Amino acid sequence: MPHPETPPTSTVAGAPARPKRLLTQNRELRAIGVWNWTLPAWAGRLPDGRAYNTSPSAGICRTVCYARHGTYTWPQVRAKHQANLAFVLDDLPGWEHAMTAELGARRFRGAWVRIHDSGDFFSDAYTLAWLRIIRARPEVAFYAYTKEISRFRTLIEPDPPDNFLWVYSYGGTQDTSLDPAVDRVADVFPDEDAISEAGWHSQEASDLLAVLGPRLVGIPANRIPHYLKRLAGRTFRSWQAEVDAERAARRGHLRLLPGGQGTAPVGSPSVADRPDEAAA
Ligand code: SF4
Repeated sequence: MPHPETPPTSTVAGAPARPKRLLTQNRELRAIGVWNWTLPAWAGRLPDGRAYNTSPSAGICRTVCYARHGTYTWPQVRAKHQANLAFVLDDLPGWEHAMTAELGARRFRGAWVRIHDSGDFFSDAYTLAWLRIIRARPEVAFYAYTKEISRFRTLIEPDPPDNFLWVYSYGGTQDTSLDPAVDRVADVFPDEDAISEAGWHSQEASDLLAVLGPRLVGIPANRIPHYLKRLAGRTFRSWQAEVDAERAARRGHLRLLPGGQGTAPVGSPSVADRPDEAAA
């Protein structure tokens, strides 16, 4: 979806300043009553040199990540997202307090908050902080896409708050632990026709359909030509399954190379293991 942004956060001596407002909204989100909290996508470095990975269970999605393209890469937008993350990493209790306080404003009563436009529930401590925030603000409804399946099975599923809905999204390293017959799942398809043909249900009309619409949620791929080329008519689920099978074959010591050229040494990386090269 197009990206919402408030004015960028200023920096002091290379360190991101605390964002004044944590939740943002663009025209499209405003139309459906949704506010948004965002982290920088996947892996990178903060201005002070610290490495981060906000999507530890990202799989093939990272090679076609919408949030590593276009406006998301603009310096001011990236700085705002990194300031959000730095706040979480440097002062989790302070961030939790600030988020809870901000959500107490009248404008959030009866509104929806999408947790993460990009990024994910990257640690237990961060996830538990969100759980406390959600419970502290029962008048606000929250939702999220996530690939952190194991973390959710442990921390969220046993006792989920009534005001929190989520959908597990394919394209991550934990895809095989999903059961579409039981779990609410979302997959990215090449286009709307592919979603219909598969009998899934598009969320294109409103992002809230991801958690409020029929199960088996279809997301049409972003129209980014080199990403579509890489997707090659597959869904994230089928592409990730291919990568997983390839990895399993490598673990079995041998991997056939394309065109029957022979075998690669054990541990030889595939394109999917080299996301930055694949994304270049
Ligand atoms: S989990 Fe989302 S934000 Fe992270 S790399 Fe995948 S598509 Fe990008």
